[in-house]
Amino acid sequence: MRGAYFSEVHKIEIKDLPKPEISADEVLIRVKICGICGSDVGSYLTGAMESQQIILGHEFSGEIAEIGDKVKKMKIGDRITVNPNVPCLDCYYCRHGLENMCIFHTIGVTHDGALSEYVKIRADRIHKLPESVSFEEGAMVEPLAIGVQAVRNSGFKVGDTTAVFGAGPIGLITIQVLNAAGASKIYVIEPIEAKQQLALKLGADKVFGPKLWGKITKLTNKIGPDYVYDCVGLPETIMNSMQLVRNGGTIMMIGTHSEPFEMNGFLQFMSKNITMIGMYLVDQESVSTALNLIEQKKVNVLPLITKRIKLDEVPNAIEDLSKGLHDDIKIMVEIE
Ligand SMILES: [Zn+2]
Ligand SMILES: [Zn+2]
Repeated sequence: MRGAYFSEVHKIEIKDLPKPEISADEVLIRVKICGICGSDVGSYLTGAMESQQIILGHEFSGEIAEIGDKVKKMKIGDRITVNPNVPCLDCYYCRHGLENMCIFHTIGVTHDGALSEYVKIRADRIHKLPESVSFEEGAMVEPLAIGVQAVRNSGFKVGDTTAVFGAGPIGLITIQVLNAAGASKIYVIEPIEAKQQLALKLGADKVFGPKLWGKITKLTNKIGPDYVYDCVGLPETIMNSMQLVRNGGTIMMIGTHSEPFEMNGFLQFMSKNITMIGMYLVDQESVSTALNLIEQKKVNVLPLITKRIKLDEVPNAIEDLSKGLHDDIKIMVEIE
């Protein structure tokens, strides 16, 4: 089978690779669509979480091609997406309903992913696509689940006021989830004009450039929003979030921080009684909810797709994304 193989930092090659062999509790998936995630680009630039020499890609949909002997309730040709995180189901976290905190085993991050014709995964991670949900929408379920889990874990309640830093894929998803969940206001901070416009179209009340977030303070009677969602993960966005959020408010950290930075204003964090919450990876419930939101048309993930490419174009596309030479939001790879 052909796949986009991550052979070393700054090097992805299209290669002929062995088709994965499944064990009794796994299924083999013929991949139809796989999205390119910011974390794939991050791996390309600085190395994958465990080692290179894997196939990247964890946001995907496809059809069941082979079924392990112990797998029930599934048939060849079923249209599916997955939760790419594969927890052990037996550790402290898994036994306490906190499976996304189990040791990381993620398809396309620590194990071979879906930028290839076939991928295998343990069968309990499979989520069937309802008839009305397309393969493209199916490939957006995992990123949507991040937004769902972020809004839920933040403690947001209907009618609360919110601000979102960043209108990239996760920012635009978080805006839509907040809208579906009944936010009274959604203020968005984003530098790129095209992304600002899309944020407005998808439910933001007002958008601001990065230096103008202070206007949100005025619009909230100098109090600040109840919740701030940082979908960027830069030192400035964390600092600005602390200044912006109201006393006793909550900052949800969704954008990935991988580099150390100096944290100024820690006293403000204390004196304002701020709650800061981290998150990583999604649980099964968030994936099911994401799928429901798409099926019920409460969110629209399709406007986030700005380009469709073939597998052969993946090395160049990731190289371009890594240089920041783009205003793409989500690139989808159609695998034939
Ligand atoms: Zn992702
Ligand atoms: Zn576990």
